[in-house]
Amino acid sequence: MKGVRELKQRHTYSFLNATERGIGRKLHEKELEIENINNKNKELVDRIKQASMEIQSWHYRVKYNESVINVLKNNLKQAMAQGAMHGKEGCGDSEVDDAASHTNVNHIVDGSRNLTPTMKQTSCRACKVHEVSVLLLPCRHLCLCKDCEGFIEICPICKAMKTVSVQVYMC
Ligand SMILES: [Zn+2]
Ligand SMILES: [Zn+2]
Repeated sequence: MKGVRELKQRHTYSFLNATERGIGRKLHEKELEIENINNKNKELVDRIKQASMEIQSWHYRVKYNESVINVLKNNLKQAMAQGAMHGKEGCGDSEVDDAASHTNVNHIVDGSRNLTPTMKQTSCRACKVHEVSVLLLPCRHLCLCKDCEGFIEICPICKAMKTVSVQVYMC
């Protein structure tokens, strides 16, 4: 009699033990999961912080580029106005031959001393066919046409690596 009771007790005991162990393991798993999630959250928060910092700096860069573009637009307007005064404006005309665009250029340069060297030529530095229409940043050289800009990474004038290019509309 005593032996049976003992056996029963032992059974119950080991059953309880196993359940406890099972629950313990599950808890441990959950804890690990929570830890993982926490780590991932932290990572995400860090990434968000970094991204917002990058956005901020891009925001500044865009603002800066915008102001540069505005200055250049004004310069261009002046150059165009001067070119028009000399009756040799080649705006929108892609069939200007080299000689003509050179005379044009000389007039513009003579007309105003504070123009950047970009204004020296109105045909694309790469193909020499189309009108320049793309401004390269950060060097600010206006020296490529829209077609050539796509595959040129380095400014043909100063060899600076282009980071941003902006299409400008003359006239
Ligand atoms: Zn071109
Ligand atoms: Zn350049």
